[in-house]
Amino acid sequence: MVSREVQAHDTVVRFGNTAVGGNKFAVIAGPCSVESEAQLMAVAEVVKKHGAVALRGGAYKPRTSPYDFQGMGVEGLKLLQKAKKELNIPTVSEVMEVSQVESLCEYVDCLQIGARNMQNYALLKAVGESKKPVLLKRGLSATIEELLLAAEYIYDAGNPNIILCERGIRTFETATRNTLDLNAVAYLKQRTHLPVVVDPSHGTGVRELVIPLSRAAAAVGADGIIVESHLNPCEALSDGHQALTGPMFEQLMQELKPFVEAA
Ligand code: PEP
Ligand code: MN
Repeated sequence: MVSREVQAHDTVVRFGNTAVGGNKFAVIAGPCSVESEAQLMAVAEVVKKHGAVALRGGAYKPRTSPYDFQGMGVEGLKLLQKAKKELNIPTVSEVMEVSQVESLCEYVDCLQIGARNMQNYALLKAVGESKKPVLLKRGLSATIEELLLAAEYIYDAGNPNIILCERGIRTFETATRNTLDLNAVAYLKQRTHLPVVVDPSHGTGVRELVIPLSRAAAAVGADGIIVESHLNPCEALSDGHQALTGPMFEQLMQELKPFVEAA
């Protein structure tokens, strides 16, 4: 059902006042984790001011180590809702378990399925039944075909509002956190009518590489990016080394202007 052979025209996924897919390049931005009201509101204001169309922020965090910050949980979701209301910006946040779907639906506008859960079929069915827009990330070692079949689970459960996300894959390379597979973006744009966004933050793991790879994502035909930003990355509770500072986010938006403003 997600194939271009079934539907030739591009799917546009709408949530709040935002559309992903179609002609405009959408920039979704915010911190890796929601850490406090002050942290979230400050970065949300900056990304909104410079043109982000949606705010990201994790309240439930899939951390490699059980001893690392696991997220604020429902308190984080409430802060996202507050930022949404005060700044009039829709929100995206990760859902890690079936039991969390209902509260995520109550507080945020778009449900993120993280890379580690791309093949959690119970979760895919649950977000499919929810009908909320879903941002589905490619698994760490998933093929493009497996990503498309994961999307098919959501679609088959009754939810066509799916955004695919290339967020880098595991390769032999160790200079960067992951290897951003831009082949996948060009390939997916031909194979599926679903919108495709790129996550250059997890794709590289290196703050200085995020702007050039964002330009590359726009050039290869992605429908947008999802990027991590933090006003004080040294103190971030997760993924600080890949977070854009406020001035870097402003520079990113300057460089993406021709794509963001395209009619
Ligand atoms: C995230 O977006 O912070 C995240 C954990 O992403 P991924 O699932 O792609 O690793
Ligand atoms: Mn992160």
